[in-house]
Amino acid sequence: MRLLMAGSPGSGKGTHSRRLANDLGISHIATGDLLREQVAAGTPLGREAKVYMDRGDYVPDKVMVDMIKHRLSEPDAEKGFILDGYPRTQTQATELDKVLADLGQQIDAVIILEVPVDEIVERLSARRTCPSCQRAYHMRDEPPADDERCDDDSTPLERRTDDEPDTVRHRLKVYADRTAGVIEHYDVDSIVRRVSGEASVDEVAKRIHEALGF
Ligand code: ADP
Repeated sequence: MRLLMAGSPGSGKGTHSRRLANDLGISHIATGDLLREQVAAGTPLGREAKVYMDRGDYVPDKVMVDMIKHRLSEPDAEKGFILDGYPRTQTQATELDKVLADLGQQIDAVIILEVPVDEIVERLSARRTCPSCQRAYHMRDEPPADDERCDDDSTPLERRTDDEPDTVRHRLKVYADRTAGVIEHYDVDSIVRRVSGEASVDEVAKRIHEALGF
């Protein structure tokens, strides 16, 4: 199965993509995570990307298109995948179509997680992330067992630099201006499933399963 997980920053894409990939036994491919790995490793790509990410802007299409082409050609992607946070621009969507056509593949469904803006701002201000495995926690609603460490690998949690309130507002604007319309590109194929993401993680996971027909 090949899925796209879409929705604005803070809508729960990462949490639900990770969980669904696990449930379905397919790969979770999150462009934000791939970029943060490059930043943490201090590669030239990571250094370039960090400038955009810290401002809440998109990393240039050329970088993203090459990155996803390479990632989708890795062996594990053959069994299926969830793309989390990609495509975000018209160019990325068009290029993704070409890559999939070359691989003889197609997208089965696009899940859009819908969450009101006020709730998103609240969630991102309460979010802490594990810099090692990227798992996200909501410090009030879904806190880790130990306040400061990841449940999975005990790494000290951090606040992402782009989760500062001014940067969050900018990210939401960039999403509305550049990405919301791109997702509609998939509406013509009737594969879009809109799911309200305003509920507990378990409840939203259940809604996603229902929307996909299982
Ligand atoms: P969010 O969805 O909350 O913005 P992500 O972890 O998915 O969080 O992305 C973090 C940042 O990484 C984005 O703000 C952007 O700078 C960069 N990024 C991730 N995916 C893309 C993409 N497809 N195109 C351009 N930039 C991207």
